Amino acid sequence: MRGEMMDMPLMISGILRHGARCHGEREIVTRLPESGQIHRYGYGDAWTRTGQLANALTKALKIKPTDRVSTIAWNSHRHFELYYGISGIGAVVHTVNPRLAPDQIAWMLEHAQSKAVFFDVQFAPLVDAIAPHAKGVKHWVILGGSELTSKTKVKSTAYEDLIGAHKADFDWPQFDENAAAGLCYTSGTTGDPKGVLYSHRSTVLHAMATCASDVIGVGAKGVALPVVPMFHVNAWGIPYATPMTGAKLVMPGAQLDGASLHELIETEKVNYVAGVPTVWLGLLQYLRENDKRIDSVERVLIGGSALPEALLRAYEDNYGVRMQQGWGMTEMSPLGTVNTPLPKHEGLDREAEVKVKLKQGRLVYGVDMRIVDDEGKELPWDGQSAGHVHVRGPWIASGYFRGAGRESFTDDGWFKTGDVAHLDRDGFMTITDRSKDVIKSGGEWISSIDLENAAMGHPDIAMAAAVGMPHTKWQERPLLVVQLLPGKEPNPESIIEYLEGKVAKWWIPNGIVFIDQMPIGATGKILKTKLREIYADYRFP
Ligand code: ADP
Repeated sequence: MRGEMMDMPLMISGILRHGARCHGEREIVTRLPESGQIHRYGYGDAWTRTGQLANALTKALKIKPTDRVSTIAWNSHRHFELYYGISGIGAVVHTVNPRLAPDQIAWMLEHAQSKAVFFDVQFAPLVDAIAPHAKGVKHWVILGGSELTSKTKVKSTAYEDLIGAHKADFDWPQFDENAAAGLCYTSGTTGDPKGVLYSHRSTVLHAMATCASDVIGVGAKGVALPVVPMFHVNAWGIPYATPMTGAKLVMPGAQLDGASLHELIETEKVNYVAGVPTVWLGLLQYLRENDKRIDSVERVLIGGSALPEALLRAYEDNYGVRMQQGWGMTEMSPLGTVNTPLPKHEGLDREAEVKVKLKQGRLVYGVDMRIVDDEGKELPWDGQSAGHVHVRGPWIASGYFRGAGRESFTDDGWFKTGDVAHLDRDGFMTITDRSKDVIKSGGEWISSIDLENAAMGHPDIAMAAAVGMPHTKWQERPLLVVQLLPGKEPNPESIIEYLEGKVAKWWIPNGIVFIDQMPIGATGKILKTKLREIYADYRFP
């Protein structure tokens, strides 16, 4: 017998409609990327302008359902409107990480078959560089007023002019909740970046899950500041969760330095912040040097990289902030675990409590997990048996866009995360290693393969391997291990010079070491594990 309940599709547009109706005056506050000035309006105004945007997209730009529309933008109210407007008409919002190299971005725009690109003025030079290689893009829209269009060589339209020409009334369509809504590329593993295609259903369910008090749980009284960018897995879903609950949403724009963040936190009375550890290190330095406090902040969600113990202690012991670690990834929308204590942790002494807090966190309901050994045998949740982490669930990718990366999925329906961890009896996960061959610096990926390929082009290099080594500011930075051709003796600086311009500036290794014989495994691959052992004591100069 079937249940007799309504089968209403979960639509992203419905989130903002709810926000506008029930929390219409609750604010979205933005530090405008183009001017640094503060802009504020309510969810009601956001809904009105999103209606104008939807009309502009369909009528002026002729965007059709399933078309991909890209953004190269900071966290702002306009980017928020794009999230809802593009997905709301049935098209797919593709968020581009502007920190990638221009040729990679152009590749993604072509791969995504993007029809239009909306970008902030800071990225005008980037747009000039990619436009000639992104032939499929029909419209370039600069986020702001008409005074900005002269900032780019590409013929662009001003966002305010584009939407200003349209009325707010829009008949928001209802369609299959499994329709694609968002696209985010991850360069997580080897080869070309892979697109993760979110659906309306996955996005709404993920947002609902994050509203639980033990997950993100920012309610109507909350004031959330996602410092995590909207191009980084949908700012961890926060722009979807806040209109659901009526939390105030504070968008930092292009200014992510300690002074700017501190000012926003103070003036807007922010009580919940989320971002990668590097951002909190920057803010901490500012607070210390200027003897400032952030008394309104109750909780900080740290993710993207492990929470460093020193950072945890600095904020908790000196600023009265609760530091929470979360773990997830692009393929998981992203949330998988959040570190929220259980009743049994009450009354723990400080050292034991810190130990618990340094775990990646407890499984969020909706994410199923297993850990397996190299042969695929499931391991017990005993707090010590470490294995490969597999996940499945309604907001976890079932494949990559256009059929890429099948090897990341098992035949029995799990996604292989590339993380190695153990789980304890309470579902707390502790990451112990990473099986995917990448380096994560300040929350952003560096592809070791691409770096190695670039280095191997050097005429004196026989073999090169890039490994991530601990770094106080960026958590991890690349160390390039090089085996030279016989008789060659280039100095490390000349190798760095060679790499400049071939890879993104921030991918340039922080150190280069020479090795006589690269350790090679049975399948002919360089043994990165062995290299990590050899250079375990290496410290960047
Ligand atoms: P995000 O950085 O938003 O979590 P990515 O897809 O860019 O998403 O990166 C996901 C990867 O980052 C994970 O597979 C894991 O290797 C690493 N990661 C994420 N969160 C943590 C964490 N809390 N501790 C350790 N590593 C983490």
